[in-house]
Amino acid sequence: MILFIDLDGTLTDTADVKFKPFKDGESEFALSDIPLIKGAEEFIKDMEKKGHIPIILSDSHPKYVNLIAKEIFKIRAISLTDKPNTDKTLKFIESNQELNKQFIEDKNNFIMIGDSWLDIELGRRLNIKTVLTQFYKAINIEKRDGIGQRRKSIKAGPTYYAKTFDDLTKIIQDPLNELLAIEAIFQGKKSDKMVKFSYKSYNGNFRAFRCLGRQEDGECDEFARADKYKQIDNPNRSNEFISKLAEGVSNYLKRVEKFSEYQWDYLTYVSDKRTTKPPNKMREIFTKIDSNFNKVELFEWQENVEGSLRNKPNYESRKEYISTYLKTKQTHDLKGKNIIIIDDQFTTSATATEISEQLRNKGAGNILFVALFYLILPIESKDCPNCGKSLKIKINKQEGTKFYSCLSSKYGGNGCGHIENIIIQ
Ligand SMILES: [Zn+2]
Repeated sequence: MILFIDLDGTLTDTADVKFKPFKDGESEFALSDIPLIKGAEEFIKDMEKKGHIPIILSDSHPKYVNLIAKEIFKIRAISLTDKPNTDKTLKFIESNQELNKQFIEDKNNFIMIGDSWLDIELGRRLNIKTVLTQFYKAINIEKRDGIGQRRKSIKAGPTYYAKTFDDLTKIIQDPLNELLAIEAIFQGKKSDKMVKFSYKSYNGNFRAFRCLGRQEDGECDEFARADKYKQIDNPNRSNEFISKLAEGVSNYLKRVEKFSEYQWDYLTYVSDKRTTKPPNKMREIFTKIDSNFNKVELFEWQENVEGSLRNKPNYESRKEYISTYLKTKQTHDLKGKNIIIIDDQFTTSATATEISEQLRNKGAGNILFVALFYLILPIESKDCPNCGKSLKIKINKQEGTKFYSCLSSKYGGNGCGHIENIIIQ
């Protein structure tokens, strides 16, 4: 595999501002001034031994990047890459015949590894897999480099997460089995991986939000599955499809079961409205989940519910919608009970937050909110061949297929209406 690896904060422990003059090429430095992330040299050597090709990809100055690449890691490097723009990286790929051939033939042979959302967005624009690393603790937030902006990095939608070089090695050796639980299912693999979206502790209990697959908007690697997310709403969705989703959830819940220090009393889901299409949209998935947890229905919509959560534009209006219309049933005593809730999508976290509050108000203990998909940040990067405006990636709701669209005014854009199909293998 070709490994594009960020330098500062991924291989070298140089995220701190004091290293800035070195990175900018403004001040001389000795190699001994550059602290390495523990295990970085061994990781690079090990990867080369296993036949992979590591290449440093850094926004820093060539005086700095090239010296470290040559003297410490003894590998090639691209500097001043201007992430997340792809121009410089693509030029580098094109200048190398073998690399270029591989890039055209199989993008899955490439992976982008880095600690900021810029690395992830660059990788997505190249349509290659990405790994968000967290090898050090960020002390200060650095806007340009996106350092310390953990939430933003997660929203950028990395394919994988690595806290150690061992995690990274596992991902590179067995990429399909390391995918998120739902994404793996659609590759015919079994994984219990999830995204740790947020964690909050209160009065000795905790509330955690987890996601099992990415729903992309714009360029991405091929493993994110907005097409599958859209299929959930399709009245003609197949039983096999529902079973697959349920299997992805089951695989993750097996992992939850393994942590014996936490006992879970109820497994529930965000109920369907009477008017939801297809009818029993979530119940059908929930029913097929294979788990030892005690399955119950804890929520119900008010009779007078109208409108749709998805049409609410922001966090506040979404939270208010849920608070007004979705109620916790009186059928179960929730005092001290630990509860897992399944929902189909996670966008603003309004539903998850509101439901957690309702449960806490009824005395619930630990709360684990699990979404099948979460919406990652949009990326646009292709221009219309007719009018030059940037194309958006859209999904055909019936077929679940992706296409580029130069959105016309009819669909809220100012483009010419040009459409190009996107073929996914
Ligand atoms: Zn156009």
